[in-house]
Amino acid sequence: MKSKTEYTTLLKSIRRFFILPKDDWRQALRIRRFFMAAAAYTICTSLAYVSYLAGFMEWEAIVGFLIIVPIINISLYIFFRSGLNLKMADPSLTAIQMSAAILLVMYGMYFAKESRGVLLLIYIIILLFGIFRLTTRSFLYISVFSLLTYGGDIVLLHLWRPQGINFHIEYLQWIVLALVLVVFSTIGGYISSLRQNLSISKSEQAKYIETIHEMAIRDELTGIYNRRHVMELLEYEKNRSSRGGGIFCVAMLDIDHFKNVNDKYGHLAGDAVLRAVAAMIDKSLRQTEICGRYGGEEFLIVLTQTDIKGAVICSERIRTGIENAKFPDIDPDFKLTVSIGLSEYRMREDVEKIISRADEALYRAKKRGRNRVDYEVASSVSETN
Ligand code: GH3
Ligand code: MG
Ligand code: MG
Repeated sequence: MKSKTEYTTLLKSIRRFFILPKDDWRQALRIRRFFMAAAAYTICTSLAYVSYLAGFMEWEAIVGFLIIVPIINISLYIFFRSGLNLKMADPSLTAIQMSAAILLVMYGMYFAKESRGVLLLIYIIILLFGIFRLTTRSFLYISVFSLLTYGGDIVLLHLWRPQGINFHIEYLQWIVLALVLVVFSTIGGYISSLRQNLSISKSEQAKYIETIHEMAIRDELTGIYNRRHVMELLEYEKNRSSRGGGIFCVAMLDIDHFKNVNDKYGHLAGDAVLRAVAAMIDKSLRQTEICGRYGGEEFLIVLTQTDIKGAVICSERIRTGIENAKFPDIDPDFKLTVSIGLSEYRMREDVEKIISRADEALYRAKKRGRNRVDYEVASSVSETN
C-alpha cells in the first residue's frame, strides 16, 4: 500500500508533466507550437478518413495514419517534456517535426487515388510551419528531402501500383513542387534572417536600457548611488515605515577638512579619497542599507530597520574604519576623519525634515571638534567620541 504522501507526490509530478512549464517560457512556447502541429495532424487524419469514405483513399492509408500519427506525437511530446530537446542544436525540433510530417504525407500519397494532387497542399502547411524558424540552408535541406520523398513515391508507384496513374501529371506536380519550394526557401530564409536581426537588436536594447538605468542612478565618480536615487530610496523607506514597516535612521557623513586634501595632494588624489571613502561606507553596510553621494564630500546613508542606538553603533564603525584606514598611494602618513550627523525617523515627518535634523547633528559634530558622531533623540541632544 502506498502512503497518502506518496500518492500526492505522484499526482504532483503527473500534473507537472502535463501542465506547461511556468518557469521556462521558451520551452512552454515550443510545447504550445507542438500542440498546434499535433492539432494539424488530427485534422489531416480526419480529412484522410473523409477521403477514404468518399472513395479517394485506400484503407491502408487510414490504418497507417492511425498508427503512425500517435507514435510521432507521443514520442515528440515525451522528447519535449523530458527536456531532451534542449540538448539539440534547435530545441524546437523544427526540422525533425517537418521531416516526420513529410514522410507521413508521402505515405498518404502512395495510397491516395485521384486525390494525390490535393495532398500536395499539405506540403504547404508543413513548409509554413518552418518558414518562421528555419535558416535558408535548413529550408533547402527540407526542400531536397521533400522532392526526394515525392520522387521516391513516384518510383514506388511505378514499381508496385502503376495502374490508373497518370505519370505525366505526377512529373508535372513534382516540377511544380520544386518551384514552390524554391520560392518558399527564399521567403523563409528572408523571414528567418529578419527575425534574427530583430532578436539581436532586442537583446541589445535590453543592454542599453540597463546601462542607461545604471547611469541614471549611480554617481559617476564613486559608483555608489547618486543624490537623486538615494533620495528616492529614502522617500520609499519613509512611506514603508509610515505603513508600519519599522523604524529607520538617516546618517549624513561629511569628510573633515577635505579642502586640505585637494590643496595639499591635488584634485585627483581628492577624487581617489572620495572613491575610497564611498567603498569603505558601502562595505560596512548591510545589504538592505542604502548609501549615496549627497554632494561633493558628503554622503547620505539610510539605516533601515535600525533605531538610533543601532545607528550610532553602525556610524561609529564607519567613523573608526575611516580613521584607521591607510592611503599609501597618497602618503604613508595620510590620515582622514569624518563627522556624522544622525536622525531617527519620526512618524509623518517628511524627507526634508529628516535630512535637516541629520544636517543639524552633523553641524554640531563639526562644531564640537569633528571626527565624531552626533545625534538627536526626541528633544535631547547627544554626542559620541
Ligand atoms: P569641513 O571639515 O568643515 O567639512 O571642511 P571641508 O574642507 O571638508 O569642507 P568644505 O566645504 O570647505 O570643502 C569641501 C571641498 O570638497 C571643496 C571642494 O573642492 C571639494 N570637492 C567637492 N567635490 C569634489 C570632487 O568631486 N572631487 C574633489 N577632488 N574635490 C571635491
Ligand atoms: Mg561638506
Ligand atoms: Mg567636509
